[in-house]
Amino acid sequence: MYIKDQVKKLTPYKPGKTVDDVKKELGLDEIIKLASNENPFGCSKKVGEELTANALNYAIYPDGGGTVLRKALTEFYQLPGDQFILGNGSDEIIQIIARAMLDSSKNTVMATPTFPQYKHNAVIEGAEVLEIPLIDGVHDLDKMAQAVNDQTAVVWVCSPNNPTGVSISDQDLKQFLNKIPNDVVIVLDEAYFEYVAADDYYDSLELIQQYPNLIVTRTFSKAYGLAGFRVGYGIAQPALIQALEPVREPFNTNSLAQLAASAALKDQDFIKYCKEQNRKGIVKFQQFCEEYGLSYFPTQGNFILIHFNRDADEMFESLMKKGIIARSGHALGYPESLRITIGSEEQVEKTLKAIKEIITQ
Ligand SMILES: *Cc1c(COP(=O)(O)O)cnc(C)c1O
Repeated sequence: MYIKDQVKKLTPYKPGKTVDDVKKELGLDEIIKLASNENPFGCSKKVGEELTANALNYAIYPDGGGTVLRKALTEFYQLPGDQFILGNGSDEIIQIIARAMLDSSKNTVMATPTFPQYKHNAVIEGAEVLEIPLIDGVHDLDKMAQAVNDQTAVVWVCSPNNPTGVSISDQDLKQFLNKIPNDVVIVLDEAYFEYVAADDYYDSLELIQQYPNLIVTRTFSKAYGLAGFRVGYGIAQPALIQALEPVREPFNTNSLAQLAASAALKDQDFIKYCKEQNRKGIVKFQQFCEEYGLSYFPTQGNFILIHFNRDADEMFESLMKKGIIARSGHALGYPESLRITIGSEEQVEKTLKAIKEIITQ
């Protein structure tokens, strides 16, 4: 059996413990899962209504072109349908880009620590990965631009960045885009776009019209609360979308997911509510960190990376014993921090109470 050398060296993604696992293991009744940045409020009620109202024929393949969802995106963004590529989560958009544009003759530039799927997919394709360390949780865009050379095919920018939550300013991003050659594709991952409250955030849709080598990725997994359905999308000029389309599997997004996402998009009141609740939660976390002298990154996402000044796995275990599953910073490049999803008001309170008990013990 032949397996690519680079694949042999990779380890499969290790999913966090499920709520049921932890319940059984610790004999707890209530578990708060704050490990994967899922929406604590679930999703819009419109999703359930739409799915109930439309009896789907499960025996037939989904619409490969995603007509209904594409139309919903077209109306929402006021952009033509050929500026979108639909994916089985934005993870798949990342995979499609890597598959179409990277091989062993190319390199690709990204920050570190950042979302691990860029590197993972680049390695599978055999490309050289150039990683530029973050400065204070934010991309070092100057160094990233300097790292671009003749072999560079793709540059990945994550804003707000996972796991730090820090977003890039309008001015910094524009300066950066101007430095990147036209034949290098820039992927701007905006998985947390709906949560951003920063005044200096850029308008990426406007930038797309200006930069034919820019593709923005967004998802229904985070603010829209549809992680279980796996829907994400890329937005770019038609030529870039067309270049990627041959790599996309014909039926990559399924019928239920397409319907659910198009319904979710139409309920912006729900998104607004989630964004407001998330901001309130962030303020509570930040006040707590100030009070207890913990350092954290100023987050624009629905999670916060907090430095506990002790081993992340130990902190993770202590919290888990109190029924709260966070994400240990070990695998994220921050061995003394936890990344914690901002939960509902009640969840935030319980989490802060648990942290307080642990750190003041
Ligand atoms: C969660 C996340 C994704 C992946 O989202 P899916 O659409 O569920 O595949 C992509 N990028 C970042 C930065 C994320 O945090």
